[in-house]
Amino acid sequence: MNTQKDIIIIGGGAAGFFAAINIAEQHPELSVAILERGKEGLQKVKISGGGRCNVTHAEFIPSELVLNYPRGEKELLGPFHSFMTGDTIAWFEERGVELKIEDDGRMFPVSNSSQTIIDCFLNEAEKHNVDVLYNHSVKTVQALENGFTIETSQGGFQCKKLLIATGSNPKVWKLLEDLGHTIINPVPSLFTFDIKDNRIKDIPGVVAKNVEIKVVGTDLESHGPLLVTHVGMSAPAILKLSAFGAVELAKMNYNFKIEINFIQLDFESCLEELKNFKQEFAKKTVIKLSQFDLPKRLWKQLVLASDISETTRWADLNKQQLEAFANQLTSAVFQVTGKSTFKEEFVTAGGIDLKEVNFKTFESKRIPNLYFAGEVINVDAVTGGFNFQNAWTSAYIASASIILQ
Ligand SMILES: Cc1cc2nc3c(=O)[nH]c(=O)nc-3n(C[C@H](O)[C@H](O)[C@H](O)COP(=O)(O)OP(=O)(O)OC[C@H]3O[C@@H](n4cnc5c(N)ncnc54)[C@H](O)[C@@H]3O)c2cc1C
Repeated sequence: MNTQKDIIIIGGGAAGFFAAINIAEQHPELSVAILERGKEGLQKVKISGGGRCNVTHAEFIPSELVLNYPRGEKELLGPFHSFMTGDTIAWFEERGVELKIEDDGRMFPVSNSSQTIIDCFLNEAEKHNVDVLYNHSVKTVQALENGFTIETSQGGFQCKKLLIATGSNPKVWKLLEDLGHTIINPVPSLFTFDIKDNRIKDIPGVVAKNVEIKVVGTDLESHGPLLVTHVGMSAPAILKLSAFGAVELAKMNYNFKIEINFIQLDFESCLEELKNFKQEFAKKTVIKLSQFDLPKRLWKQLVLASDISETTRWADLNKQQLEAFANQLTSAVFQVTGKSTFKEEFVTAGGIDLKEVNFKTFESKRIPNLYFAGEVINVDAVTGGFNFQNAWTSAYIASASIILQ
């Protein structure tokens, strides 16, 4: 005998809980259940943002906000006009969770703990009688004429409307493919670059405040802070490239060259500056006098890579050395040999083909009464709270459309 519910949500993660709470709060007469395969839900929320949960990002203009989504930029513009950052802040505030903005725009609970978000969701779900069923792994979904039947590891269910919020789960994507949806091949996004290079080998922890990076032979480029790590490079300039280049870099099997401009000047202007330094600092040792606001340790490595010795003074630099140094500063090439996990946040690019989702309702264009929210769709963002904002927006709109019809 199948358990009957009005609305079933598969997946008790960020999007699943957000949707369930909104539906149950607006329509207490409806029976709403979450089927979650884990013995607990919200596991990604728990570990998100290094345990602090970067809930959203202080960007309040929809046309600016969408620029952070390598996949979903065009499709999310409309939805963001209905529900975006300000609404997220208000939603949490109305339920007793205050958020704060950090210098880089990321927003966190004032408590600095993801548990605050989890407690809020669990309390709200309980308050509005959402039936949260843990250890219920969904095995099959069948679309009926007037609803769905769902087989789980703990029995069958039947519902009129179904919301899938299972994140990046290959088994559910397969199941949706069998129902007639197209799944865009999943590849990782938000990763750091593995680089073995003498110039950075001994300087982990060094940060260049604003670099420009290009992936050689492609149109991919980004700018922002760069961090040297024990195995390569990280920080926003790299993470943005990993997100916008997720598909292209996967095709290259994460073997490619990057070209870095450390100083925001072109080669010619840099050379001019170096010639000025030659006059100005003639008697000083090149390696000891870091310029262009570059960290000393990085400056030293770029000097040595330009065939300039530890003792060379500015006055002694010849034309070749000056040019080699200008090259290192404005177009240093590094070979990337692989990728590593960025532990603070990662997502999967890929999922349900954007063409098959109605972004006014988040309903499937293929199967009536089937809705999607969160990472299950082929939407993902750069780091900074944008991935959760996608979960909140899609879940909110899906929940509003589900109860409208
Ligand atoms: C380490 C890490 C840190 C992150 N930090 C941030 C951050 O600070 N800010 C940010 O914006 N984004 C962050 N992200 C990304 C963010 O967590 C995701 O984009 C977001 O959780 C997606 O929400 P979702 O509800 O779509 O999927 P999920 O949160 O992944 O939830 C999906 C749920 O579905 C369940 N499920 C899957 N298959 C089944 C099945 N067959 N039956 C039943 N249940 C099933 C899963 O168990 C899971 O609970 C981070 C990601 C990681 C990995």
